[in-house]
Amino acid sequence: MKSEIISIGTELLLGEITDTNASYLAGQLSRLGIDLYWISQVGDNQARLEEVLKRAWQRSELILTTGGLGPTEDDLTRETIAGMLAEKAEIKPALESNLRERFARGGMEMPLSNLKQATLIPSAEPITNARGTAPGWWVTRDGRILISMPGPPLELQEMWQKQVQPRLRQISTAVILSKTFKTIGLSEAAVGELAFPLFHSANPTLGVYAKPDGVQLRIMAKAASQKQAEKMIAAGEAKIRAALGEYIWGTDDDTLETTVGRLLTEKGLSLAVIEDYSGGWLTASLTDVPESSAFFKGGLVASSDEAKIASGVAAGLISQYGAVSPEVAQAMAEAVRLRLRADIGVSITGIKETGDNPTGLVYIDAADNKSSVIISRARGKRRATATALLELRKLLTSLD
Ligand code: ATP
Repeated sequence: MKSEIISIGTELLLGEITDTNASYLAGQLSRLGIDLYWISQVGDNQARLEEVLKRAWQRSELILTTGGLGPTEDDLTRETIAGMLAEKAEIKPALESNLRERFARGGMEMPLSNLKQATLIPSAEPITNARGTAPGWWVTRDGRILISMPGPPLELQEMWQKQVQPRLRQISTAVILSKTFKTIGLSEAAVGELAFPLFHSANPTLGVYAKPDGVQLRIMAKAASQKQAEKMIAAGEAKIRAALGEYIWGTDDDTLETTVGRLLTEKGLSLAVIEDYSGGWLTASLTDVPESSAFFKGGLVASSDEAKIASGVAAGLISQYGAVSPEVAQAMAEAVRLRLRADIGVSITGIKETGDNPTGLVYIDAADNKSSVIISRARGKRRATATALLELRKLLTSLD
């Protein structure tokens, strides 16, 4: 089934809001095995909205719109759909009494302008909006389906999950499944060179993406049934693991922090962190792990020499080598490990990138009780944090 999404609202075109509705729906359509060919954004202008809707009606079997279902004059979606299909919108008593009840429950009189939210055209059925006043429209005509949903993301998502998606699932004849493999240690090109020759057909498809925590490889299979799609993914996974297994650190929703957290918990080790350059990012990401209290002793943000010294780093070391040096990085990691009585200490220190000093420099040092020292360079807070976690993972997997 060929589908398209139209996001309606002048705020989108002014750059005031980001079109998260379209990305949400795009992800959802893919999971349903529905091909998405176009995404458009259009302002609250009847002529232009009609133009976009007409084109969609000609080329797509399923059209999803979001936005423009509100009560005000610039909410034009219903009127424009009615105009395009040359159908008359009429107030439906059942919808009107629902609306009036909703307002009455809130102790308010319903403004007259809300009445248009109780209208329908003959080809449309209403879709209940559990979180707002505007019902959606499910239009079926000429072998096409047009589904109009509200703009506020919470209203849209609830309507989608509870009502639209289950119905579309029954109509869709395909299933698309994907699996992402997260690698480290190889460049984007190297991952591509290893993986692409393994897959000669257009299905499953492969995608390679460079991310701060390494290069990701995604395999996506389309099949007539869930079972068949799962089989295709499993066969693809076997090939990918045979070629790239040693570089894969996780799949799908795995994050570096959860992977590290799992390893620490399995090995019964605790961790303490001291960071300068990354300003607390490493601590923040580790504390995002649900069971972090089991392994995380704490994180210090030591932005100045004084803070490093107060944390236990020898002042002489800083004056001798400078705060951004392997010696101080190692001393920081050791200091935090001892101060917080942890099994492993990790430090990040570095210089912020500036015009005069374009190369950001970060030392990462994990000092476990065997005094392993790992030093890496990474640019930017996010990369420094990811690098620290990767080095930590390397260290933990090497411990028996
Ligand atoms: P309402 O009844 O609230 O007026 P509506 O269906 O008319 O709903 P809009 O008025 O178009 O929706 O948008 C309402 C709000 O929803 C916007 O101000 C914005 O915050 C959010 N919104 C709308 N469209 C999008 C979108 N495509 N992506 C993300 N948020 C959106």
